[in-house]
Amino acid sequence: MTGRYGGGQGRRHGGGGGRGGGRGPEPEPIGGVRDEARLSSELLRMDGASYGRYKSLKGDWDFGDFTLTVERVQADPFAPPSRVRVLVPDTGIPKSAWGDPVRRRATADYLGRRARRLLRGSLLKIDTGGQEVIERSSCQLTDGGIDLRIGIDLPGHGRRIDGRTAERELCRTLPDLVDDLDWEEIDVEEAVAFADTVADTVALRARLAERNLVAFVAEGAVLPRRSGVSDEPMTRGAVPFDPPESLRVSVDLPHRGTVSGMGVPEGITLIVGGGFHGKSTLLHALERGVYDHVPGDGRELVVTRDDAVKIRAEEGRRVERVDVSPFVRNLPTGADTSDFRTENASGSTSQAANICEAVEAGSHTLLVDEDSTATNLMIRDERMQALVHGDREPLIPFIDLVRPLYREHGVSTVLVMGGSGDYFDVADQVIMLDAYHPHDVTERARELAHERVDAGFALPRARVVEPASVDDTTARGRGRIKRRDTDVLVFGENDIDVRAIEQFADPGQITGAGLALRALVGGRHLDGTRTLAEALDSLDEALDRGGVTLLGSDFGGDYVLPRRYEVAAVLNRLRALRVAGQR
Ligand code: ADP
Ligand code: MG
Repeated sequence: MTGRYGGGQGRRHGGGGGRGGGRGPEPEPIGGVRDEARLSSELLRMDGASYGRYKSLKGDWDFGDFTLTVERVQADPFAPPSRVRVLVPDTGIPKSAWGDPVRRRATADYLGRRARRLLRGSLLKIDTGGQEVIERSSCQLTDGGIDLRIGIDLPGHGRRIDGRTAERELCRTLPDLVDDLDWEEIDVEEAVAFADTVADTVALRARLAERNLVAFVAEGAVLPRRSGVSDEPMTRGAVPFDPPESLRVSVDLPHRGTVSGMGVPEGITLIVGGGFHGKSTLLHALERGVYDHVPGDGRELVVTRDDAVKIRAEEGRRVERVDVSPFVRNLPTGADTSDFRTENASGSTSQAANICEAVEAGSHTLLVDEDSTATNLMIRDERMQALVHGDREPLIPFIDLVRPLYREHGVSTVLVMGGSGDYFDVADQVIMLDAYHPHDVTERARELAHERVDAGFALPRARVVEPASVDDTTARGRGRIKRRDTDVLVFGENDIDVRAIEQFADPGQITGAGLALRALVGGRHLDGTRTLAEALDSLDEALDRGGVTLLGSDFGGDYVLPRRYEVAAVLNRLRALRVAGQR
């Protein structure tokens, strides 16, 4: 699937750095006075010297109103960029812009985007988000100040230092950037509006539970994207969202006032409609509704409960001791499905594992699209039941479990299903999309529904992970966490296939999830006795207190805060994972 991360941002390095060049001894860091003037003269003096001399820049440089720290220096011009940190203790940002965690994240994000714009055409690169506003390592607000982590391709003429260009970038572009990020210099109204938008989204999401809603889609929202490879809003021909009257709710927000839209109630919601009528587009918007969007995205007021997890089939994935017995019994192999392990799951068993793992990690909201499911896990019609008898069919289809999942455990499901009316039997509400216009067709669907006796749903057993199996150390004894494009997370000697984890909204979250695995073990959240869910709770608490940079104080690249569900998903796909026991 393409387009998960939006377009036009180019390829980014996965970080990880730390691969020393190993050519000769490293030069001593420049000693004595290390201020701006000295850096300037040293860089000009280095012009034409061998590239390795750049290493002598390492350490702090005092620019007066900020400190530049050269943290990592690339071994050659073709290696991943060098890393510098810029700490500005006071940029005049008023406390109203950073005083609470939501504002702090939003203002940091706004300033990061401004920095990216200002650095356009420069060798300095800062990691910023696409359409979502997620906490990231590259731009952090300290109390009244700013802390930037920037990559720079240190310039060379072949293997010789291009000292003039380096001097221009570090001693002119960088101080200019710091000046331009001063609160006096920015468009304060725009910055405040940006943070207000995020704050409203957060407030709206917090209201969902008290209204017994799993999602909200505002009137006028623009759901379709520009193309399959762009996450930006469709500009021409987009049909704005118009809520059906029966599902209309109004919510008061702190900044925008009262907004009106479609409330998606708890329980089982079916989205139906003809092909190409916008079903998957609506579900995609709900998948991303766990994140906050930038002003102008079109989905600023499309929010979903923050525990919503997209479920799909994923043939070939590994499954490690997952209790899939609600869905799978009596396999032809005789395997114990309450303690199920496979190196190569089928479409249906992978989807069953994905559901059980999401529930295990704490999700109470499942999002499912027929486009990416295993049909035999979703439905079994009467004729198939007549032909293949119950005792020959190990699968209990989702249709028989979706109600007890809600009734007994409060897990709601939003399901796109255009190809079968069977789910009418179990749906609480049915929304039909007709040429992108939603209609409430619940009454009509009820008339067509059949009586259905469902099974119960026993909660899958919780797993206790063997911490030693979650190890990012390579055969050469060093830690390695690295993203390869948006497909693979390299974790020590393991390649983790992350393509099916659809709610990564930013490539940096893949790296972030790898760092979270390391933190789960390193911070003793996974301690060999806690269940996985308890370990995730414990990590979440630490991240709430310490912020995203807790994940990578020693890490030489950019990363973005992942959700616990994606952290669990990455862990579950780690082929080295060992589960010590179940509870
Ligand atoms: P379905 O899942 O019902 O087959 P999709 O959600 O994949 O349909 O949408 C089909 C096409 O319609 C996509 O190209 C999508 O971008 C476009 N589309 C979806 N919603 C809208 C809308 N509200 N306005 C305009 N185009 C839309
Ligand atoms: Mg579709």
